[in-house]
Amino acid sequence: MQIDAPKQVRAALQRLANSGFEAFAVGGCVRDSLLGLVPGDWDITTAALPKEVEAVFADCRLIETGLRHGTVTVLLDGMPLEITTYRVDGDYKDARHPQSVTFSRNLREDLLRRDFTVNTLCWNEQRGVVDLFDGIKDLQAGTLRAVGEPEQRFSEDALRILRGVRFASTLGFAVAPDTAEAMLATRALLGRIAAERIREEFTKLICGKAAGAAIDRFAPVLEVFLPELSALIGCQQNTPYHCYDVFHHTLAALDAAPQEETLRLCMFFHDFGKPACRRVDANGVAHFKGHAIVSARLTEQILRRMRYPNKTVRRVTHLVEIHDTKAPLDRVQARKLLARLGEEDYRALIEIKRADCRAKAQPHAIDRKLEDMERFLREILKDGDCVSLHTLAVNGDDLLAAGVPAGSTLRAALEGLLNAVMEGRCSNEKGALLSYWTENAL
Ligand code: ATP
Ligand code: MG
Repeated sequence: MQIDAPKQVRAALQRLANSGFEAFAVGGCVRDSLLGLVPGDWDITTAALPKEVEAVFADCRLIETGLRHGTVTVLLDGMPLEITTYRVDGDYKDARHPQSVTFSRNLREDLLRRDFTVNTLCWNEQRGVVDLFDGIKDLQAGTLRAVGEPEQRFSEDALRILRGVRFASTLGFAVAPDTAEAMLATRALLGRIAAERIREEFTKLICGKAAGAAIDRFAPVLEVFLPELSALIGCQQNTPYHCYDVFHHTLAALDAAPQEETLRLCMFFHDFGKPACRRVDANGVAHFKGHAIVSARLTEQILRRMRYPNKTVRRVTHLVEIHDTKAPLDRVQARKLLARLGEEDYRALIEIKRADCRAKAQPHAIDRKLEDMERFLREILKDGDCVSLHTLAVNGDDLLAAGVPAGSTLRAALEGLLNAVMEGRCSNEKGALLSYWTENAL
């Protein structure tokens, strides 16, 4: 089996080999290549000690940030490559970091410390794919299996538990029974892992193609750092529109959304406020009035706790807040919605509503409305309809000159004229707008 490695990776492996050091591409890059996916990064593992790696690449730019763990980052033809010396981890004491690392000249020893069999696969041009732990068999069967004794491996480094859920989601693999059992049994140790590391895995997890199934299977793992999730499980929505409890609705909505961070975060959190807002009327129908606002508040709180960047927190929180906005039924409503949201959020709302509705009792009930919503936007953009004060044919100075007093009256007059234009009561021309203002004394 050959692998289509970038030329820089081949060159680095060749250089190490020419200097007499065994070296392989390892882990995710080999796994993804064999699955026909494009690897995100290429890691190299080698028998060469860090000093020897530095000597081999003496003419390149080197970044020594990971030196303590045996990693030298080499910049080769513009591509950063992490080259790590074969290594045996010492005892783990805190479910996070080994107390010491020892370098080794033995590939097998290095592979033993890796998390899952499919992540132990190695490749170089001379030897092809090297598979010491039956990783290929698991890859072909779609099985995620811990290397060695699962409970021990998860107790050493609890992040592996969440990586397990992440790979189940991104690869769509089934977790081997003893591995899954151990993930659930050791899950409390995740409480010791830094928020940033959890966040990185969580983002990849919810963006996976099988996120819903993975979260359904491993909800107790997520609840360790997302205790708010429990309230969604079993929260019944007895309404004619819904066929799932809030938890399973959320998972279905997640799977239906594009595999992109912002939208997936939005769908994951969009109904977190529902349990707190649930009221059942005399007919036994559940209502969730105001849940979008409560969801938004929870989303903000949780994303901050998980250390998402401010920009992500703000955007996702806003999308959660608007997720339940009704689709515009005509072009006037579409103009007003566009004026309120801006084009980016208007488009996001289309995706959000589609995903939300796909997870309801009648998944296609929304399709016509969303087609219209897209068509209105196309027409508005094509015809250059005025949907903001920037493109209104009069500005504050024009109105001041026409005798409108400054301050809140001026602001209201501008808003009133914009509304009149969007509603088709006045054309967007200066003369027309000024007479409209005089006649209607907005
Ligand atoms: P991706 O790059 O797609 O996120 P990956 O499997 O390549 O997935 P990396 O974080 O790039 O993940 O790590 C590279 C390799 O290092 C893994 O394939 C695995 O062999 C090993 N590895 C990473 N993190 C751990 C860990 N916490 N415990 C054990 N081995 C790990
Ligand atoms: Mg990787």
